[in-house]
Amino acid sequence: MPELPEVEVIRRGLAPGLLGRRILRLVIGEKRLRRESSPEKFQEWLPGRVILDLERRGKYLLFRLEGGVTLLLHLGMTGRLLLGPGPSPPRPHVHLVLELEGGLDLAFQDVRRFGQALVFPPGAEPDPLAQVGREPFSREVTPEWLAQEARARSRTIKNFLMDGRVLAGIGNIYASEILFAARLHPGMPAGRLSPADWGRVLKETRRILNAAIAKGGTTVSDYLNSRGETGLFQLELSVYGREGEPCRRCGRAVARISQGGRSTFFCPRCQKKK
Ligand SMILES: [Zn+2]
Repeated sequence: MPELPEVEVIRRGLAPGLLGRRILRLVIGEKRLRRESSPEKFQEWLPGRVILDLERRGKYLLFRLEGGVTLLLHLGMTGRLLLGPGPSPPRPHVHLVLELEGGLDLAFQDVRRFGQALVFPPGAEPDPLAQVGREPFSREVTPEWLAQEARARSRTIKNFLMDGRVLAGIGNIYASEILFAARLHPGMPAGRLSPADWGRVLKETRRILNAAIAKGGTTVSDYLNSRGETGLFQLELSVYGREGEPCRRCGRAVARISQGGRSTFFCPRCQKKK
């Protein structure tokens, strides 16, 4: 599942090809996504408008169009954005194709259909964004703020990091990696972390997300970048997916536990419960 770095990499990859380009026509697939505007709404608001900006909030991509219209996309579990010369070849599971000026097509493909494609008329700020927490790189995110948020919620540090209503865009892979780097046991109650712990969590969160963005996002899951390439830039993961393999720091076997129905990977020696 794409996390913040993957979505950011897609945004950076697509923006040069999309900005300033006009949407001419749409092709709308027959099957519906988990959340998707009606074909009539797409046809009313998208064709004829220039793409002015491409933003990211959490794991959402926001296409800011002429006249204050916003197209919001979420890649869900298996969503892909493929930008290439039109007409784009027939592919299964394509839900929306934007035919653009200059002979380019942007296709949104989503096999499992957990993605979202919603259009918002002028003046309507997309309501899914109301549920999106602060951006990890925002100045408003400080160790003190994290500690305060954690005290208000009773949960483990792993589940706290993955709560997109607090910090946007951190999923299962990066939560495991951040806690390994910060040397914190994933089962620790978030409310018990010290100020120094929060300082390390924030520093490692930013370092790891930046490293992943710089390397083009990981390719652990069923994910393609904006040019449809896969297998690029594999980030070296320290613990995620490495159960039984030696810890890169101390050599002890990496362990796996289940938290909130998701696998967490950690080193039992480097990440002791306090
Ligand atoms: Zn270790």
